[in-house]
Amino acid sequence: MPISMPSMDRCPFCDYLAGLHPVTILERGEQVAILVTRWQRGQGHVLVIPVAHRPTVMDVAPAEERQLMSAVRRAAQAIMAAYDPGGIAVWQNNGVAAHQNVPHAHFHVAGTLPGGGTRSGEVPSVGLDETDAIAERLSPHL
Ligand SMILES: [Zn+2]
Repeated sequence: MPISMPSMDRCPFCDYLAGLHPVTILERGEQVAILVTRWQRGQGHVLVIPVAHRPTVMDVAPAEERQLMSAVRRAAQAIMAAYDPGGIAVWQNNGVAAHQNVPHAHFHVAGTLPGGGTRSGEVPSVGLDETDAIAERLSPHL
């Protein structure tokens, strides 16, 4: 049985990469990009995504795997260097049942909060000024 995917008319991540909506792009390569999410669940929370539209991790092309994992590692190292959190959380959801909200595979990478853990449930969105500031803080360490 195929997993149920969130339904959207357009993929917001593909639209971000196409420049159709404003977003803070921390890094963009041929195969992988790192975005700073406006829904910050931890310190320096970023999203590592394949540039090509891949609905779930199971759709990632073998040639993209190394670049994705490299970006996850480098983002984690940058968050450690920039924020010195107690820990780094990495998570990735596939399908509505797993609470995937955007139908384009993405890895969350975030430093833990000062009290530990990351925020779950609804979080307020932050402005582009704030995501730009996060990118400025992380980029020297990538
Ligand atoms: Zn997409």
